[in-house]
Amino acid sequence: MRPRFAYHRPTSIEEACRILAHEPGAAVLAGGTDLMVHLRQPWRGKRPPAVVNVKRIAGLGEIEVTETAIRLGALASLTALTEHPVIRTEYPVLPFTARFMGSPAIRNLATVGGNLCNASPAADLPPVLMALDAEIGLVGPGGGARRLPLEGFFRGPGQTVLAPGELLTWVEFPRRRPPWPIRYERLDVRRAMDIAIVGAALSVGREAGRGREARVALGAVAPTPVRILEAEVVLETEGLTDAAIGRAAELCMAAARPITDVRATAEYRREMVGALVRRGLERLRDE
Ligand SMILES: Cc1cc2nc3c(=O)[nH]c(=O)nc-3n(C[C@H](O)[C@H](O)[C@H](O)COP(=O)(O)OP(=O)(O)OC[C@H]3O[C@@H](n4cnc5c(N)ncnc54)[C@H](O)[C@@H]3O)c2cc1C
Repeated sequence: MRPRFAYHRPTSIEEACRILAHEPGAAVLAGGTDLMVHLRQPWRGKRPPAVVNVKRIAGLGEIEVTETAIRLGALASLTALTEHPVIRTEYPVLPFTARFMGSPAIRNLATVGGNLCNASPAADLPPVLMALDAEIGLVGPGGGARRLPLEGFFRGPGQTVLAPGELLTWVEFPRRRPPWPIRYERLDVRRAMDIAIVGAALSVGREAGRGREARVALGAVAPTPVRILEAEVVLETEGLTDAAIGRAAELCMAAARPITDVRATAEYRREMVGALVRRGLERLRDE
């Protein structure tokens, strides 16, 4: 039997939040590429009693570029990420990452906001956006808005800090000049249509001494995407020396809390965290 649920199609953020607040357990429908699976096979025992399709809300899919920031509307599709001229030129890591995700048809539907709100520990965009220092915008019933760092958004597999009635409206990261050197290293069984076994987003500023910033964010090796601050400190202090790269890789392996599942054992994932971090940092140094 097909699942039964109430269906809403609001045309404004206010209306969407009002409906979400009045329908406990209601799910937002953005691209539907994750949600449709959950509707057919309840995930963690939950099947939403109502679906709120937000695709008719004007402006939520836009990508805005200013001198200082790049703001991705929650409904921006993965295809839009791969095609945007400024993103392609200044942050090719985003198109590079998006191309791992599903097929062209999936990427036409799938949204940036959906990838974050689905809160899969193995999702690809969260580590990359965390390494870009992304912040997110949430709007709740009554119009109350809040802004928080992306790494504060995830609570566990499928769980976020979204309050009842809240909608993610945008993701924003600083537009740095020159753009940050950043890489995404990903291990998978197949190159296409497969989720990551390990994902590692790595960034180390090139300037020596003061002002050098490093970001190390991992996916698929803990209940949420994680930043490994200890590894960042080593890279900020020592730069991309062989010793610092080795130490950062060890710290990432020690911090990872992987699970064993159909794709890989925990032991293999932990080893691969070290290998990917080491490889990514060496590539950053040699670029
Ligand atoms: C064949 C296939 C391959 C895939 N491969 C990958 C992959 O390699 N890497 C990867 O990371 N993902 C992958 N995915 C998962 C999926 O495509 C992405 O996570 C996608 O970005 C989800 O976006 P969506 O708009 O379809 O989300 P939806 O399915 O519409 O929503 C997902 C969840 O987020 C909630 N939500 C959505 N938008 C909002 C919002 N604005 N505010 C509040 N809550 C919201 C929904 O209620 C739902 O719980 C794959 C999926 C398929 C079907």
